[in-house]
Amino acid sequence: MKVSEILANSTKPYPSIEIVPPLRGITKDELLESIAPFMEFSPKYINVTSHRDEFEYREEADGSFSRHLLRNRINETTVCAAIMSRYDVAVVPHLICGGCTKEEIESRLDNLEFLGINNIVALRGDSMSGEKRFTPTPGGYRYANELVEGIRQYQGSAAYQRKRKMESEDGTSGTDDRYFCIGVGAYPEKHFEAANIETDILNLKKKVDAGADYIITQMFFDNQIYYDFVEKCRAAGINVPIIPGLKPLSTARQIDVLPEAFSLDIPLELTQEIEKFKNDKDAVYNIGTEWCSMQCKDLLKHGVPAVHFYTMGKSKNIVNILKNCF
Ligand SMILES: Cc1cc2nc3c(=O)[nH]c(=O)nc-3n(C[C@H](O)[C@H](O)[C@H](O)COP(=O)(O)OP(=O)(O)OC[C@H]3O[C@@H](n4cnc5c(N)ncnc54)[C@H](O)[C@@H]3O)c2cc1C
Repeated sequence: MKVSEILANSTKPYPSIEIVPPLRGITKDELLESIAPFMEFSPKYINVTSHRDEFEYREEADGSFSRHLLRNRINETTVCAAIMSRYDVAVVPHLICGGCTKEEIESRLDNLEFLGINNIVALRGDSMSGEKRFTPTPGGYRYANELVEGIRQYQGSAAYQRKRKMESEDGTSGTDDRYFCIGVGAYPEKHFEAANIETDILNLKKKVDAGADYIITQMFFDNQIYYDFVEKCRAAGINVPIIPGLKPLSTARQIDVLPEAFSLDIPLELTQEIEKFKNDKDAVYNIGTEWCSMQCKDLLKHGVPAVHFYTMGKSKNIVNILKNCF
């Protein structure tokens, strides 16, 4: 089912989860077992993030350079196919502009369509490690709104077009530029490259105007920031659902790492509490879980349509939050 249909038909808010594809070496069963704890809560869909392979160039004795794969993950489409082989849950692969030409994106869409996957989160992707700013791939997309437009223009693989043609000969249907339901990302505390939040929201609107069906936010730790952001988006004419994204803090180090990595604030009350217990791992873990549960309950009270959880390879704390809130 498409996320847009799930959003339209849900009678109460629901949780969704996001996983990161594993690095090479993990088996399919291990991956599926790692998701099992969430399935008890019947998430409506599981998002799978997308990552560029990372390469290193080594100088050879003759002065030439050879390219070596440093790190790669099982790709998001493969992970989605694995999830579908065991669980009855919708999957939402992320698709990034970075590292792909438009033709390669089209080929990925063919693969998704082949598997019957009709949900996507369309993103620009981050810059490569070592690069300060995102550089578009020659022949690729520069911004996520262009990617959304490209996905909307996608008319399906050859087989899909044949089927559509047959249907239209029957008089039932023509080509379908809404085959994919598209989600996009947003930043309640502003994307780090944007000059100001207003410009960032205008750029977010470009994604919606290009055909995005809904929005998922970056994590935040103060709900008021999300409520203010939604209000600004509505005032700017963005009318699609804006799903809040949450991640519980799980280590004391994250109060330094997350603000830098995701360009966000962590409230003083939370940092002070964590500082107090910074040498007690369990206490920090519990504080992070409780804070996130408190955020989730408050969001539900405010009538959000869904809450999206960034699991980042952790299940215990998210499972506890789901138990507390859903
Ligand atoms: C829910 C969510 C999921 C994510 N999943 C992944 C993932 O799976 N893999 C991954 O690598 N990263 C992921 N990210 C991170 C994301 O790729 C980065 O934050 C990236 O830097 C921006 O992506 P975007 O799609 O928001 O970019 P864009 O919407 O293209 O915005 C990027 C910047 O450019 C500006 N901008 C946008 N459009 C225009 C325009 N037309 N003209 C001028 N300026 C413009 C924006 O204001 C912003 O500052 C995710 C982020 C979120 C919120």
